[in-house]
Amino acid sequence: MLFAIKGMYTNPYTPSQVAQAKAKNTGKSFANFLKPLASAVWHKDINHNHPASHDALPFTGSTRACFNIMRDSLKTNLFTPSSFITHHSVLNPMNLFRIRTQSHGAIPTHTYHFEDNMRNLYGDRLCTRCTNNTLGCETHAILECTFSKHLVSPPINTLRTLLSKAGNPFWDFLPMQEQISIILGNPPLSLPTKLHKAWTKTTLNEILPHISFLEALMYT
Ligand SMILES: [Zn+2]
Repeated sequence: MLFAIKGMYTNPYTPSQVAQAKAKNTGKSFANFLKPLASAVWHKDINHNHPASHDALPFTGSTRACFNIMRDSLKTNLFTPSSFITHHSVLNPMNLFRIRTQSHGAIPTHTYHFEDNMRNLYGDRLCTRCTNNTLGCETHAILECTFSKHLVSPPINTLRTLLSKAGNPFWDFLPMQEQISIILGNPPLSLPTKLHKAWTKTTLNEILPHISFLEALMYT
């Protein structure tokens, strides 16, 4: 509406792509102009506040855990949905979406704990399913917990084979943060971008059913 007003097209601050767009498309055009700029600001914030070199540190909060899962899919324009969402599959990616976004009430670190009116620290939210006395986060539930990790073994075996066929580092040599990233739908760091689409197509149908089994187990 703003750019539909006669005379605005001569404003030197109006981006050329917006000025040249048809009146009905100016809003969309302006949004498309802003997205890469806003994404660059967010990237700067992420790189400043959550540098990759700190990834090996223990999780002190959900933000650290989130970047462990999402970092590799945050390198592109942040307004571009992850490929596990945009890939057309007959399987519903909602279970994966809930775990990736830490919107999962069955994982202890996602729930609020109150004792004597004091809120527990993130690091105090231990797994309630095994006896390892370990932080009950996604990484633990999927890769470590004796109660649930067996459910994700089949897709990990598939990923292990695919990695080796593609000439990538062996699964067992990857740091845990990259393992959790891959099992939750991100391509391996060493895989060229042009192969990412093919990777998603090949792996998502393997991953989704088992993440669904995992979620079903955790809710029982
Ligand atoms: Zn456990």
